[in-house]
Amino acid sequence: MRIGHGYDVHRLVPGRRLMLGGVEVMSPVGLLGHSDADVVLHAVMDAILGAMGKGDIGRHFPDTDPRYSGIDSKVLLSKVLQMMVIDGYRLGNLDVTIIAQRPRLAPDLPRMKNVIAHLLASGEERVNIKATTEEGLGFTGAGDGIACHAVVLLED
Ligand code: MG
Repeated sequence: MRIGHGYDVHRLVPGRRLMLGGVEVMSPVGLLGHSDADVVLHAVMDAILGAMGKGDIGRHFPDTDPRYSGIDSKVLLSKVLQMMVIDGYRLGNLDVTIIAQRPRLAPDLPRMKNVIAHLLASGEERVNIKATTEEGLGFTGAGDGIACHAVVLLED
């Protein structure tokens, strides 16, 4: 078994779609980034790459590469799954914590879980997605951005 942790942050700005965990969430503000800025999928990918000892998404999908401009992070997660399969790993379990003061994410979590399990060729019982606010404290609490932690166990 191999364990990995991923952490990511993106800034919230007007005029962007809010993509989280591979699904669009209704919100007047969205996350800024070179790709679709899906902070959840980015943390998940970093956790998996960490578990495999393969660095991070910045190394595999650099934001200086125009091929990744505006890219759907689900495409990148599919590439990470290919690396997992080539190296002989499958998902043990994944636990994700999204830190966001707004919007309220509880209604969207089941869809995220479904999409992520599907993208990782895994059962939904191996994927847990939760969201918390930070009680108004810090940059997440001020609504300036969204952060996400992911911990993954891979089995070979
Ligand atoms: Mg990111």
